[in-house]
Amino acid sequence: MKTTFEIAVFDGDGIGPEIMAPTVDILQTLAGPSDYDLRFVDAPAGAAHYARTGESFPKASMDTARRADAILLSAMGLPDVRYPDGTEISPQIDLRKALTLFAGVRPVTIRPGQPTPLATDEPIDFVLIRESTEGLFHTQGRGEVTADEARETLLITRAISEPLFKFAFDLAKSRKAAGRGPGKVTCVDKANVFRAFAFFREMFDAEAAKHPDITADHAYVDATALWMVERPWSFDVMVTENMFGDILSDLGAGLMGGLGLAPSADIGHDHAVFQPCHGSAPDIAGQGVANPMAMILSAAMMLEWLGGRHDRPDMAADGARLRDAVDTVIAAGTTRSRDLGGTAGTVQVATAVKDALA
Ligand code: ATP
Repeated sequence: MKTTFEIAVFDGDGIGPEIMAPTVDILQTLAGPSDYDLRFVDAPAGAAHYARTGESFPKASMDTARRADAILLSAMGLPDVRYPDGTEISPQIDLRKALTLFAGVRPVTIRPGQPTPLATDEPIDFVLIRESTEGLFHTQGRGEVTADEARETLLITRAISEPLFKFAFDLAKSRKAAGRGPGKVTCVDKANVFRAFAFFREMFDAEAAKHPDITADHAYVDATALWMVERPWSFDVMVTENMFGDILSDLGAGLMGGLGLAPSADIGHDHAVFQPCHGSAPDIAGQGVANPMAMILSAAMMLEWLGGRHDRPDMAADGARLRDAVDTVIAAGTTRSRDLGGTAGTVQVATAVKDALA
């Protein structure tokens, strides 16, 4: 009998439903002949849902997310729909906090045929891990501001940092085993200036000592920004604090020629959300021109994560196949969405990926 995995589907706002539908279709195609089943459960939430019902994140949708084996999310939020206090509707951030998704995984891959501002033929394939629950986001929305000064607090805890570093070394190990990296983890910090980062680095070094087969090194965040442009091929896995990761992951997306090909995962002890790095792109919503590849690549990460978690090499292999199919379409260069300089629509791109799978 096939094992069934339940997937919570947040198809969200703007282009969200347009990129989610073909992604679910591709996942169903992959699961069809396999030994696993995927059961997709809709989880309504987001700005449009709030505008319709007065509720942005119904309890039933949070329950669906908690129960699911994995969570797929497209994009949420619309600039014109806000809470009465003017803040934006972002259930994806609520989800990150509620499920303690501390490891924000942001792969930076430049495939043959992919537009990039870098003038290099070196293959680029590294992963940035952004801590996503504390750091300089700790007092988010609660900073103290008086007439003369403003304060925010940077928080680094052992409870989050230790599993974060373990996650980073495990990822380097599995990438090495898959032939995708040399087995190296770089701790990105500012330990020369802040005691909090010396503490961060100390815990990193303690985890590194448990992995003699993996190289561990350190880099200051400012130098890292420079090296990501000058020699990005020298990175394998990098791990950093929340705010540093927020900034460096956009630099990573820039190297990848924009947001249309940037997938991500937010992973905790028991749950994980897979979503593209981009937002709901209201400027192009409803036109059928959104690039679905970041969403599809996020779904590939989901299969690989489920495969690792449940000891299902077949699922992990399907994730890799899906990634390879995207690579094939990009390398062929014949089906490109508008953001990549082409004219293909969302469905055309997704169909090309599906054909490449076959
Ligand atoms: P958020 O703050 O919600 O992350 P954002 O302000 O970063 O959103 P996006 O919604 O990501 O903005 O859109 C930024 C630009 O990138 C827009 O011009 C949008 O049309 C474009 N864009 C984003 N995602 C895609 C996509 N999948 N395909 C094509 N263009 C996209």
